[in-house]
This record gives sequence, structure tokens and C-alpha cells, in this order.
Amino acid sequence: MRGGPLVDREHIESHHHEQMLSVEEARERVLSFFRVLPAERKPIMAALGQVLAEDVVSGFDIPPMDNSAMDGYAVQAASVSGAAPGSPRALRVVGAVAAGQIPDRAVSEGVAVRIMTGAPVPQGADAVVPFEDTDEARRPASGSIGEIGVLAAVPPGANVRPAGQDAAKGEVVLRKGAVLRPAEVGVLASVGRSDAVVVRRPRVAVLATGDELTEPGDGLAPGKIYDSNSYGLAAAVTQAGGLPLMLGIARDDLHSLNAKIEEGLNADALITSAGVSKGDYDIVKDILMKRGALELWSVRMRPAKPLAFGRLDAGGGRSVPHLGLPGNPVSALVGFEQFGRPAIRKMMGRPVSLRPSVQAVLDEPIYNTDSRRVYARAVVTEADGAYRARLTGHQSSNLLTSMVRANGLAICPEDLPLKDAGETVSVQMLDWPEEVF
Ligand code: AMP
Ligand code: MG
Repeated sequence: MRGGPLVDREHIESHHHEQMLSVEEARERVLSFFRVLPAERKPIMAALGQVLAEDVVSGFDIPPMDNSAMDGYAVQAASVSGAAPGSPRALRVVGAVAAGQIPDRAVSEGVAVRIMTGAPVPQGADAVVPFEDTDEARRPASGSIGEIGVLAAVPPGANVRPAGQDAAKGEVVLRKGAVLRPAEVGVLASVGRSDAVVVRRPRVAVLATGDELTEPGDGLAPGKIYDSNSYGLAAAVTQAGGLPLMLGIARDDLHSLNAKIEEGLNADALITSAGVSKGDYDIVKDILMKRGALELWSVRMRPAKPLAFGRLDAGGGRSVPHLGLPGNPVSALVGFEQFGRPAIRKMMGRPVSLRPSVQAVLDEPIYNTDSRRVYARAVVTEADGAYRARLTGHQSSNLLTSMVRANGLAICPEDLPLKDAGETVSVQMLDWPEEVF
């Protein structure tokens, strides 16, 4: 019964493929609207994951002085040459120095100072003999004054960490553009910095549209569903490094949408879900077009083929880029991965990159019925050094729980009718195999 019209529609759609954008073309267009944001100064602990907007120079040597790498005795290497377990070399212990102290005794031929890891090496000493290479344990009362037998020779410089070895005074320890990871945060602290100048995080307004939507926590009336997109997308914004600004739900009417858009105009970007695909109330598209510019694209991908992209006029010559994702929850999240996340990374000054991919052997086929790139929800596991991928079941884009089970998106290229079981596919990883529960 539906045979005729359906065939016709597919025929038309197949001719429309020429006007479809590839994922890469769409991403390039989207990214061209985003710029790296201005920098801000903030406490180093609040800047994890942000990009440094200054070169950081050490104002002093790190470590600031020669210091001991071991608990032991600071000596002159020449004093203990030839020392061995069978022929210990006796030294006179004249003092002790702990980390944080300044040695009050110098070391000369035949003399030792007891020293702890990190303590400054006393004047005259050029090596440290670790406790294990002395007879200290066999002496009844080892202490800071007395005698010690050294059981092993050490070369000059042994167990001494020279001043400036980690960073020399005046050295650039972190370059502009560095992503602040725990190590970078530690290095900032090591040069005495409590704050840093970093590219600011983007504020991303998130808006759901639809008369059927209900705020979680409220009661659910017949015919309604909860707004999951706002929350899934806001969480994705956070995970990508952005600061979500929840605008809530706009109804499919002029007043409601206008009011919500107003609230989002001071954000760095607006992400909406639903309301712009074919079959929606034209009013949504109309308003967005009137308030700026809006283009509706078809992207050669499944899910998330319909994509809206535009600019909202924010006044004063400013405009806010607007990414309009499809309404189905899986489409919204998959679309965000391909376009939203890279835009956020670009604004943060991070190298524009997608999630890392792995090559995995498919356990089951991925079918591609209409020459679009398929992003199939998949579970990647590792066995014997190789990755395998299976699908999470039914791939309809309304099944959000199927996304819960996935740790990656297995890709069947647009120009292949299928990727068969046993073939190798590229999987865009949302998490790593060990992170699946
Ligand atoms: P639309 O693009 O408005 O036609 O929406 C496509 C599908 O996504 C419909 O089934 C909507 O009910 C659903 N949908 C739209 N927005 C949301 C949302 N915020 N949360 C969950 N489902 C949604
Ligand atoms: Mg709708």
C-alpha cells in the first residue's frame, strides 16, 4: 500500500544526496563561526583542563640548591674510595641535616654529615652514601655525632640532585597553549604561582523546544515526556569543558521561544534540540531566522542528519553561534559529539580534535541503507591486545538507554553498504573499555 509513495520518496532523497554535507564539511562550516575566547586569571586549582594563555617562567632554580636524593651520609667521594663490605671506611659524623634545614657543619676529608632526602648538601660534600651502604644498622645508637662505617665507594655527584636540574632560573617551564593537566598544575605551584592566565571556559546556553516536554521532577501529564536532551546535552557541554547555562524548555510558540532566546544571548554559544527538522512548527525556524541567520543542513550521517546552524544577533554587533541539534535524544548526543564538542574545544583554545578512535573487529554487521555515515552505538572490549566491538542492540535514535550501554560509536563509512562481522571498523570512543560498567 505504501509501496508507491515510499519508492518515490527514496528516489527523491537519493537525488538530494548531492546536496548533503559530509560530516567533515559540516564541521568545518560550524567551526568557522567559533573563535578562541579571551583569557582570564584564576586560581590554579580552578584551571584544570584549561589552556594556558601565557608563558610561565621560573624565577629561581628548582631545586633551589644541591640536595640529597637519599637518606644517608653526605661525604667527600674521595674519603670512601675503596670502601667495601669487607673493608669499611670509618668516617667521623659531625652533624645532621633534615629537609628544610640549612646545614651548620661542613664536610671535609674523613668527615660525614647525616642527611635526609631533600636536605641541602653541606659545603664540602660531593656525594651521599645511602644508609643501606653503611654499617649504621649494626651500631647500637646511631645518631648525629659519632662514627659511621661506609661499606661502598661512591663516585662524585652520587645521590646529589643539583640545583636547577628540574628548571633553571629564567627557564620557560610551561608554554602558552599548554593544557593544564595535574602535572602542569603541579609545575605552576612549583614555581610559586597560585594563579594562572588561561583561556576562559565557554558559557553554552542549552535550550529544549517542544510542547510535549516536561521538566524532570514535575508530574507527567498524558501525552508528555520529560526533557532529557537539556540534561544530556548540558552534561556533555560540561564534559567537553564548557559551562552550561540551562535555559529550560521553550514551547512551540513565538513568545516562549523569544523569551528563552533573550536569556541565552549573553552566552558564547547556544545549543538547541528539536524544533528545526522537517515537520516542525515553522514558527521556530521563522523566529531564529528573523533574529539572525539560520541554515538548515542535511548531514550525511545517521543518526543526526538534520542540523541547523546559524547566528543570533545579540546587539552591539555581537552574534551568538547557534547549533540546532535534532530532537531525538541519541541524535542530539551524537550530533553534539561531531559538532558541539569540537566547537567548545576550539573556543577553549584546545587543539580541535574528536574523541580518540580505536580499530576494532566487529562481532556483527553494521548496515548502511542510504549512503550515510553510520555511527552505531557499540561496546568495545579488549581481549589479547585486540579490540572487539559489538552493537548495543536496536539503533533507533529515540532509544537513549542504548547509548547508556555504549562506550563508543562504531563507524560504517557512507560509501559502504555494510561493515560485516569480522571486518575492522573505526570506533570513536566515548569512554575507554575499562570504563564500561
Ligand atoms: P522534533 O525534532 O521536534 O520533531 O523531535 C523529534 C523527537 O525528539 C520527538 O519524538 C520529540 O518528542 C523528541 N524530543 C524533542 N525534544 C526532546 C527533549 N528535550 N527530550 C527528549 N526528547 C525530545
Ligand atoms: Mg518538536
